[in-house]
Amino acid sequence: MRVLVTGSSGRVGRSAVAVLAAAGHDVRGFDLRASGRDVPGWQEITGSFDDPDACERAVAGIEAVLHLGAFMSWVEADRAAMFRANVEGTRVLLDAASKAGARRFVFASSGEVYPENAPLSLPVSEDHPLRANSPYGLTKLLGEELVRFHQRAGRMETVILRFSHTQDASELLDPGSFFSGPRFFLQPRIRQQERMGNSAVAELLRAADPGEPAHVLARNEAGRPYRMHITDTRDMVAGLVLALESDKAAGETFNLGATDPVDFGSLVPAMAEITGWPVVAVDLPGAGVDYKTSNARIRERLGFRPQWTIERMLQEAAGTWRTSTHA
Ligand code: NAD
Repeated sequence: MRVLVTGSSGRVGRSAVAVLAAAGHDVRGFDLRASGRDVPGWQEITGSFDDPDACERAVAGIEAVLHLGAFMSWVEADRAAMFRANVEGTRVLLDAASKAGARRFVFASSGEVYPENAPLSLPVSEDHPLRANSPYGLTKLLGEELVRFHQRAGRMETVILRFSHTQDASELLDPGSFFSGPRFFLQPRIRQQERMGNSAVAELLRAADPGEPAHVLARNEAGRPYRMHITDTRDMVAGLVLALESDKAAGETFNLGATDPVDFGSLVPAMAEITGWPVVAVDLPGAGVDYKTSNARIRERLGFRPQWTIERMLQEAAGTWRTSTHA
C-alpha cells in the first residue's frame, strides 16, 4: 500500500515508517524536520501541515494516511502555533487526502480528550465523555471532530486512535528526555514547573532537592503515588498497523495503549536501583494522576496484543543507562 506517515521524524512516526517499509509498504514521510533517513526509495516532504501546497505534494498518489504528526506543548507561548499545527493542519491535510482519493485516514488522538487525568469513571473506555481540560487535549478533540466529519462525508474510511502516553524504552532513564526527564527526575521537574509558570510547585520541589541528582516520586496531596499508562512505541506501532490494515477498523475509535497502568510507587524505586540515585517523594497539590484506561475494544476487535510491559522496557533502559554518561 502507498502510505503517507506524518510526523515521520518523531518518536512514533520514525518507528512506524521503519516497520511499514520492512513489511513491504511504499512509505512517504511528511514532517517539519528532515528525518535523516537514508534508504533507497525513501521519499519525504519537508513542510507544515497547514501549508496546502505541502499537503498536496505529500498526499499525491497516496492510498492511506497515518496522521501522527502534531505539536505537543503545555506551554502558553506555544498555543497559537499548536492550534495551527494540530487543528488547522489536520483540516488542510484531511481535505487534501480526501481530494487526492486516499482510502483510509488514521488519526493519532490522545487520552487527553477525556481527559485521563480527571476521569469521571474508571476504567476510561471509548464511551467516556469528552471534556478535554488542556489546550493540547482540545486540539486533539477538535482534530477528532474534523476526522468524524470526513467519515460522515463518506469519501474516506477514518480510524481514530486515542493514544496512551507513549515512550521509547530508552527514554525512561534519560533525565534529558522530553517526557521522562520531568516525570522521573527531580531537577528536570523543577525546571519544567518553572517554565510552565507553576512557581508554587517549583518551590515545593526545590525544598526537597538533596543537592545531588535525584529521582522524583510524584504523589498526590494524600500521599498516593501517581499511576498512569506508559506504552512502548513498538506496541503503539503494532496497533497502528492494525488500524491501517484491518477492515474492522474502518469508522471506529479505539484507545491504544498498554493493558495495565504503571504505579510510580514501584517503578521509581526500581529505576533508582539501576541508577543508584536517591528517590525524593513529593506530595503535590490536588488529586494527582491516577487512572486506568481500557484497551479491551482494540484487543477484542482487532486482536491487539501489547508485548512491552514496563518491566521489559526498564530492563532495556538499564542497558542504555549503563553505557550512558550518567552512569
Ligand atoms: P513527536 O513530538 O516525537 O513527533 C511529532 C512530529 O510532528 C515531530 O517530528 C514534529 O516535527 C512534527 N510536526 C509538528 N508540527 C508539525 C507541522 N506543523 N507540520 C509538520 N510536522 C510537524 O510525537 P510522538 O510522541 O511521536 O507522537 C505522535 C502522535 O501521537 C502525535 O500526534 C501526538 O500528539 C500523539 N500522542 C502522543 C503521546 C505520547 O505520549 N508520545 C500521547 C498521546 C498522543
